[in-house]
Amino acid sequence: MAMTYTCHGAAREVTGSCHLIECGDRRVLVDCGMFQGGRATEEANSQPFDFDPASIDALLLTHAHLDHCGRIPLLVREGFKGRILATSATRELARVVLLDAASLQVEDAARASRRGEHVAPLYDLDDALQALDFFEPGIGYDHPVTVAPGIEARFQDAGHILGSASIVLRLDDGETRRSIVFSGDLGNPGRPLLRDPVPAPAADYVVMECTYGDRPHRSLPDSVGELYAAIRETTRRHGNVVIPTFALERAQELLYYLHLGLRDGAIAPHVRVFLDSPMAISATEIFRRHPECFDTAFLAELRHGDPFAMEGLHFTRDTAESMAINTIDSGAVILAGSGMCNGGRVRHHLKHNLWRDRSAVVFVGYAAQGTLARRIIDGAASVRVFNEEITVRAKVWTINGFSAHADRPSLLAWLGELPRRQVLLVHGEYERGMRAFGEVLAARGLAPRMPRRGERIALD
Ligand code: ZN
Repeated sequence: MAMTYTCHGAAREVTGSCHLIECGDRRVLVDCGMFQGGRATEEANSQPFDFDPASIDALLLTHAHLDHCGRIPLLVREGFKGRILATSATRELARVVLLDAASLQVEDAARASRRGEHVAPLYDLDDALQALDFFEPGIGYDHPVTVAPGIEARFQDAGHILGSASIVLRLDDGETRRSIVFSGDLGNPGRPLLRDPVPAPAADYVVMECTYGDRPHRSLPDSVGELYAAIRETTRRHGNVVIPTFALERAQELLYYLHLGLRDGAIAPHVRVFLDSPMAISATEIFRRHPECFDTAFLAELRHGDPFAMEGLHFTRDTAESMAINTIDSGAVILAGSGMCNGGRVRHHLKHNLWRDRSAVVFVGYAAQGTLARRIIDGAASVRVFNEEITVRAKVWTINGFSAHADRPSLLAWLGELPRRQVLLVHGEYERGMRAFGEVLAARGLAPRMPRRGERIALD
């Protein structure tokens, strides 16, 4: 087979994105992400790659989420010597994400060895730093670049997180020419900071995500209204609001909504807002450096001043500053990671607020099965935090409209009506988004394929 596609991750699942294109004697990867979820899923991270990393000419990275870039240090350690291409915002965010991942791996391994288990970290800071050396200077949206002889790539805005891209490949093996579009993760149109995703162009093949292919999302304005209501109600009761927050995009969007809420009087002026996450603070600084990624309305907003700034805002990088927040018993709005509460500083804030009926915990993101966030959302009467059983008395809010992933109507709008040889569905749980979205496409005569991990498909 002269030209093939092989799915090495995000096959009927939502993590571990990794796609291999072979064109003549050239090989290109799109994404090299971490598998995330329970122990069984994550075991795949330490398994050898099903291809020889040294044979890969280039890696094209759609965006900086860990499930898309997290295994790059392993790829490099196993012999990859090619180019890594990404937009400049993705490159900067990937640096923060990979260094953070490396230090978490090292901490986890140290904790395990204190328990007497011998676990080597998946990779360490040196591996991450070495991988970062392979990133080439950031490339702009919509400029075709030659990746290798016979392979040209064009990145287009995917509207998912800062710097995110869909990637359009033009392949020519000397006999055949084919085009293939990788959606990457797609955002929802109408977000405040980023531009809308650019629809898929005409192409022979489309490899697309379908995380929320089974449903429409709740409207964003309703969700923002609910967020303000949660804060108003809690401050009236003299409690604190804890918002478990993902560091990339969600934290910055929330800061912007809080900025607007305070400006427009939707939130009482005396609240104190804490961004208690070193990674989210770094990501916010990276945001400020990349106005080329912003939506026009948001750019106009920038001319009137800092859209993330507000009276009473504190960025707490140091552990001591973070701990000081625990002495506040009312009027604090605390944004802290991780979003699913399975690690990070948010656990301290939960420990100090979950048992208080005056406080509130507001969930604004996806919470996987088995995580602390999911147990609280599902109504547990008490949960274990740092080996202590805490009774849940705080009011729990779950607000669904902030998703960074396109819902079913937005996925269909991105795909459009252009004729295709084949649509391949990836990055979706089979029983949820993928099968349902497959049925919608089948009804339109598209007969999508849903490759399994390791499945190789001829692009003939
Ligand atoms: Zn993503």
